[in-house]
Amino acid sequence: MGGSLKAAHARSIEDREGFWAEQAQLIDWHEPFEKVLDYSRPPFARWFVGGQTNLCHNAVDRHLDSLGDEPALIYVSTETDQERVYTFRELHAEVVRMAAIMQSLGVGRGDRVLIYMPMVAEAIFAMLACARIGAIHSVVFGGFASGSLASRIEDASPSLIVSADAGSRAGKVIAYKPLLDEAIRLSSHKPANVLMVDRDLAPMTMVEGRDHDYSTLRERHLDAKVPVTWLESNEVSYTLYTSGTTGRPKGVQRDVGGYAVALAASMKHIYCGNAGETYFSSSDIGWVVGHSYIVYGPLIAGMATIVYEGTPVRPDAGILWQLVEKYRVTVMFSAPTAIRVLKKQDPSHLTRYDTSSLRALFLAGEPLDEPTARWISEGLGRPIIDNYWQTETGWPILTVAHGIEQTPTRLGSPGMPMYGYDVRLLHEQTGREVGANEKGVIAIVPPLPPGCMQTVWGDDDRFVSTYFESIPGRQVYSTFDWGIRDDDGYYFILGRTDDVINVAGHRLGTREIEESISSHPAVAEVAVVGVADQLKGQVAVGFAVLKDPGSIEQADARLALEGEIMRTVDRQLGAVARPARVHFVTLLPKTRSGKVLRRSIQALCEGRDPGDLTTIEDPGALDQVRQALA
Ligand code: ATP
Ligand code: MG
Repeated sequence: MGGSLKAAHARSIEDREGFWAEQAQLIDWHEPFEKVLDYSRPPFARWFVGGQTNLCHNAVDRHLDSLGDEPALIYVSTETDQERVYTFRELHAEVVRMAAIMQSLGVGRGDRVLIYMPMVAEAIFAMLACARIGAIHSVVFGGFASGSLASRIEDASPSLIVSADAGSRAGKVIAYKPLLDEAIRLSSHKPANVLMVDRDLAPMTMVEGRDHDYSTLRERHLDAKVPVTWLESNEVSYTLYTSGTTGRPKGVQRDVGGYAVALAASMKHIYCGNAGETYFSSSDIGWVVGHSYIVYGPLIAGMATIVYEGTPVRPDAGILWQLVEKYRVTVMFSAPTAIRVLKKQDPSHLTRYDTSSLRALFLAGEPLDEPTARWISEGLGRPIIDNYWQTETGWPILTVAHGIEQTPTRLGSPGMPMYGYDVRLLHEQTGREVGANEKGVIAIVPPLPPGCMQTVWGDDDRFVSTYFESIPGRQVYSTFDWGIRDDDGYYFILGRTDDVINVAGHRLGTREIEESISSHPAVAEVAVVGVADQLKGQVAVGFAVLKDPGSIEQADARLALEGEIMRTVDRQLGAVARPARVHFVTLLPKTRSGKVLRRSIQALCEGRDPGDLTTIEDPGALDQVRQALA
């Protein structure tokens, strides 16, 4: 593309169709599209109308001639000590076998297949097999228990569920089959078939007639030929639920052609990955990052993708960088939460391996606080790029695009609006546009660009009412995040719109207070919530995880540190932002995707029920909050 990011962005808004018609050349089309954008029914956008394509073709088949014997999928499990490299040709063969199995189980175009799997190669075969035959996959994070799984089975009504005997986390085996059986029992929808991958980690009781063994069926379809099913661009590729940080998860529905184009464009302009190189995202296929940047994005770009089962600290805190060295990773994607985990460990792990192949480390999913950004960029000596987006959008809204221009990054800012997103900062109450250095709700004027959600699965009304009706007077997409823009156009995320507290008439973002507290050298991580207070309306209360929890075993050490932290906030933000209390815990309550459940903490602080906890990582974290409050 060349030129400046701002110019590319301006063009993408002024000449939407021209801009995206060009990007569409990055993928293969079986039949060309007749119309770039159909926006006759706002806010529903239909991209590349009439075009026929296929995600699996673009991710796999398309590369067979040029990259057939090059690595496509690099599977590494530090849980089961397995490592296996599949070339594009081998990946193709496995995907075709999986597609044949699915067809033999009656799965066809438009049918739903729910994938409840740990990080194993077969999970990726299953996703790509669905894409190949036009089935709609719905991946459910393998760490979820029966309740969460049941509600997703209910919503997606799959004819087939693909699962495995067990997952493993930090050396602990978690049997999936009993959880799955219980979820199917709880759900009113019953799948006709269940396909089980047996990893030999946990015993399984198979249900006669419903449950099938993957390796047996695979043998039967070893030489299968399953041609790609060409799909109209707007057919559904998958559904996926949001993380559930702020309430009941929403079933995000995505298309085929728009998604493929958006990912191909982002790989080129934002992630700057080239065919033949290796991409490593330490996320999980259960999240949107896993869909876009473990599976489809890298493969569409002809890159090998590392599929990693394990934690960032086992066998030691150098494992991620060891993989970077071994596979000459050029682009890496992780989350601030993973980096904060590493921050509690010996920093020498960062320099033990040769990470010079790495062009950049991208971090997304939650606010990247300055101390963490500084720690990792100095420790690694590689560029760190924050990117801000949502399950709903599928690819970054705000970041820098070094494939277009070498825009410098700014600590604490994910960057600028990406091409295709008409981003505005709007006043919460009046809907008027705010100026530079003024806080507003981050909103996007529709149509949303290609790759973004089409609707809420099975619920168009919820799509419109949830996302497009919260700003008074205009139909714009709300991200439900606060932001601010500096004079140069860099955005800063100030937290979620429901994470604002009101202290004696001052509106403060909990994020700002968290930033301030985490700048204290003893603090590894912190969550701040607003708690009702008779005098002030609300006061800030912090829950901090220390780098060295042993340092505050004595009560007076604890008090002294609490005082020091309060003075840090006084100095940086003013006394009005000073937390009324800072409690020390060793664990924060988070969703399974690593986001802090501030609402639940706040509820406990106010003596209320913590609410829907189906997405919580470790309920023990809430007990710590309870104990701290007691
Ligand atoms: P739910 O919508 O169900 O409450 P969720 O919003 O946590 O769940 P996701 O779609 O996984 O589900 O997360 C998107 C949100 O994560 C964004 O709206 C924003 O609040 C936060 N986020 C993502 N990336 C960044 C980032 N780079 N900086 C700050 N916040 C981020
Ligand atoms: Mg959200």
